[in-house]
Amino acid sequence: LKPCIRFYSAMLIFAAFTGRATVVFAQESQGSLLRAEANRIMLSELRPVLGTTTQKLLSEYLPSLAGSPGDSPVYIMEGAQPGGTAFICAGTHGNEIAGVVAAALLAEQVNVLSGRVIILPRANRSAASYPDPDRPGPPSIRIATPGGDRIFAYGARRTWPGDEGRPDPLSFSHPDSRLPPLDGNESRNLDRNYPGSAEGGLTARVAYAIENLIKTENVDIAFDLHEANPESKLAWIIVANPKNVDIAAIAALELEGKGVRMALDMSAEEPRGLSHREWGDRTKARAFLIETPNPAQVYPPLHGDPVNDPALPLSRRVAVQLCSIVEIIAAYNDETSPESRVLLENIPSPDEIEARGLGGFLD
Ligand SMILES: [Zn+2]
Repeated sequence: LKPCIRFYSAMLIFAAFTGRATVVFAQESQGSLLRAEANRIMLSELRPVLGTTTQKLLSEYLPSLAGSPGDSPVYIMEGAQPGGTAFICAGTHGNEIAGVVAAALLAEQVNVLSGRVIILPRANRSAASYPDPDRPGPPSIRIATPGGDRIFAYGARRTWPGDEGRPDPLSFSHPDSRLPPLDGNESRNLDRNYPGSAEGGLTARVAYAIENLIKTENVDIAFDLHEANPESKLAWIIVANPKNVDIAAIAALELEGKGVRMALDMSAEEPRGLSHREWGDRTKARAFLIETPNPAQVYPPLHGDPVNDPALPLSRRVAVQLCSIVEIIAAYNDETSPESRVLLENIPSPDEIEARGLGGFLD
């Protein structure tokens, strides 16, 4: 009997192995198809106005990112008059789509009168193509315009595990944190990694490149555009570094006068690694984070619609992202010297977006 048992055991192990290999292969090939599609979509996501915009790559601020899934386009719009520099970062979390669409709309519509605007619409490009099994969402969203649908990739909160270049640690602690460690997968959360590390995994290197962009480009005022679960206290909120909370407070009052109610929060000492905390503490930039509520971010998934939810349509969330940026820059301009001001025009107001729809500005 012994050789027989050995034979059947070998057959079982072989079957188990090939079965598993087939599943893994199927997941990977499905993953690479989704990635190819997401990358194709991202190539056409943004249509900045040619002639007024210079395009760079994030790898300019950390060469080891070149050719990696962490590299991403950076658009620079320069005004006719000198002034300060504003930085708009979107797509930190690939599923927080209002920020990405707001960044695209801004890049396509804004007229910079003085100073510069630097836009990074896809801060974590790997996350934008990652179909996270724990937080499923649609692979892309569509916005109807008179000239046809605009399509934006809809990804995940974290970097694709296979892109990180190392397995998740058992737990993750920011070097400056005194809190208990986070789950190891948070090592792939860009907004826990600042100021990043040039020698780290992909996510830490992307964080390093962004922090280096802010320093190298002499950024005066920086925005990180996010969305939150509508049930979270983070929905409809501006978070400001303590050094520039006065600017956020003035902006919140102005917004309220225009019918846009945004709560105000100040970066806490902990957790560390968040953009508004580390950009503001480690660079001269005034640092702000804007959060709108995304109905598709209710977990466990209830399959909320990230675009056409009647109570929280994408058009309203994008409008609030944009008018928050406008009012924060206005408050910054009021307290800064004339040579450091950033003067912008042609950013549509919430009323204009309500009247013409997002498609009217993304055509
Ligand atoms: Zn976020």
